[in-house]
Amino acid sequence: MESILVLTHADETGSVLTKASLEAVTAGLDLAARLGTQLAIGIVSADAAQLSKALPSARLLAVSGEAFAQPRYATDAAACEALCRAAAATIVLAPASSRFARVAAGVAHRLNGLIDTHITAIAGTECIEVTRWFYRQRIEAVLTRDTRPWFLLLDAGTHAAFAGAPDPSPLEEINVELPAIRTTVTGIRAPKQDEQTIRPDAKMLFVTGAGWTKKQPDGQFHVKEAGDLILGFLRQTGASLGSSKSLVDQGGEGQPVLPFLTHMNQVGQTGATPRHAKGLSTCCHGEEPHVVGWRFIADRRAISLDPNCGWTRGKADVVYVADAFPVIAKVNELLAAKKP
Ligand SMILES: Cc1cc2nc3c(=O)[nH]c(=O)nc-3n(C[C@H](O)[C@H](O)[C@H](O)COP(=O)(O)OP(=O)(O)OC[C@H]3O[C@@H](n4cnc5c(N)ncnc54)[C@H](O)[C@@H]3O)c2cc1C
Repeated sequence: MESILVLTHADETGSVLTKASLEAVTAGLDLAARLGTQLAIGIVSADAAQLSKALPSARLLAVSGEAFAQPRYATDAAACEALCRAAAATIVLAPASSRFARVAAGVAHRLNGLIDTHITAIAGTECIEVTRWFYRQRIEAVLTRDTRPWFLLLDAGTHAAFAGAPDPSPLEEINVELPAIRTTVTGIRAPKQDEQTIRPDAKMLFVTGAGWTKKQPDGQFHVKEAGDLILGFLRQTGASLGSSKSLVDQGGEGQPVLPFLTHMNQVGQTGATPRHAKGLSTCCHGEEPHVVGWRFIADRRAISLDPNCGWTRGKADVVYVADAFPVIAKVNELLAAKKP
């Protein structure tokens, strides 16, 4: 019989489990129910007692202490290894957070196991079948493996975060002999929240295309105005900012650029494939290499001047054939008026 362990960790505040951890809990509950086996949940944090109160009934294991407050390879790998050994886990589910993605392959190796990443679904009763996408989300594969322990890193947004009534079980503290620690975490340097434009948890993706920096009907460039409109929209909505490749490439080609865009924002075949409930594309043609990155955007809308653009040919649910400058200016005005 399989023994399933879900690995979880706290967010930067240390006071709650990350949303991606709670998504892994949902996946673990589903799988355990289907296989008719008990679920174990492992917590890595400074203070696990507090965090365990939000969890469902399961075997709860924790590695706690100041050394586990911050992400660090040596301590996180030791913590995850100890939890897997204590649970005698054959299947280990973990969120593909930067914290766990960094250590999971190493832990699988220490336990003579195997790992698969970017898992989007887990099915099967007799035999566990996991799903992931290959070739830039064009081919969906179903994998099975005989090797145990089998580590599965779950892509964020593929399961609902556990939000059922908590039914915490007693917490088993697992002792970890701390390895030699060469890395001291002195703090986190990150952009301020409103400068951080890539927001994986946002409900909406707002995509900017090269049209924003092209000559407009008056024969002039309006790059400064474009930047103000885009940032205004992001501030009011909290949307995540994506871009077409053409727009982020422009910097290197000496053309007008939007200073807050980098290749990290690029969506598409050679960019990211984010997951959001809604997407609004602006001044973007909707070519296939861009749109392939929209596979996991549920409701797709676009604003383009071109009535023959790729979006209108069946790639978007709704296309507004309009000038994005006045449209976004008006939307920003309406959003500002709605704010108390
Ligand atoms: C191997 C390969 C990989 C690629 N990978 C990617 C990728 O990962 N991501 C990606 O995005 N692209 C990728 N591309 C490039 C892709 O094919 C397109 O060239 C690119 O997506 C076009 O970007 P765009 O729509 O922003 O620009 P353009 O094609 O220049 O379109 C700009 C659009 O803006 C509209 N517009 C202009 N002004 C306004 C206005 N005021 N209001 C409304 N609309 C306006 C125009 O009508 C036009 O439709 C790849 C290409 C190749 C060959």
